[in-house]
Amino acid sequence: MYLKSIEVQGFKSFANKIVFEFHNGITGIVGPNGSGKSNVADAVRWVLGEQRVKQLRGGTMQDVIFSGTENRKPLSFASVAITMDNADHKLPVAYEEVTVTRRLYRSGESEYLLNGTTCRLKDIQEMFYDTGIGKEGYSIIGQGQIDRILSTRPEEARELFDEATGIVKFKKRKKTAEKKLDDEKQNLLRVNDILTELE
Ligand code: ATP
Repeated sequence: MYLKSIEVQGFKSFANKIVFEFHNGITGIVGPNGSGKSNVADAVRWVLGEQRVKQLRGGTMQDVIFSGTENRKPLSFASVAITMDNADHKLPVAYEEVTVTRRLYRSGESEYLLNGTTCRLKDIQEMFYDTGIGKEGYSIIGQGQIDRILSTRPEEARELFDEATGIVKFKKRKKTAEKKLDDEKQNLLRVNDILTELE
């Protein structure tokens, strides 16, 4: 599995649709200060479901939408799509190639798509759980992040290792199961109350 391309449109400094294609080996993105290099990494974080605006270096989520320049009007939506080669089926889906798309409109509406079909953020997160590519993953290391990781609290460092080793999925499932169990316990209590009333 590897990242084949990133398509951005209306995202941060990328007003026009632009496609970054990646091939085998290492790819470097170079450019003057402020030209948008970090915006490319932000685009990948965002399409993987980043909800924390601070991580995207903005004040509100709408800040990711192209806000205009002297010569160009602001745009009404931002869209990012990443395409992964999945010939080795590291992503647990049948497709040989997987495209994940996220769109956000100024009105606040947003959507996620998996190979062109609308899906939930949860579906995308679950698909990437075991890969280390999730938005919490170590696959995108932002400026200053290494310093932060080194000085982080042990519990936070643990979360990073959990993601890297792919056990986050099981932790989430455990939490869901515990919640269901709790709900059922409450239901049982209620049934017992009713039974007592009837006796
Ligand atoms: P450096 O080398 O200094 O780290 P960089 O190449 O990584 O810079 P970025 O931080 O990716 O640059 O891009 C910053 C640029 O993106 C700024 O010029 C900023 O005005 C522009 N930008 C960010 N958000 C938007 C937006 N919503 N609309 C238009 N432009 C934006």
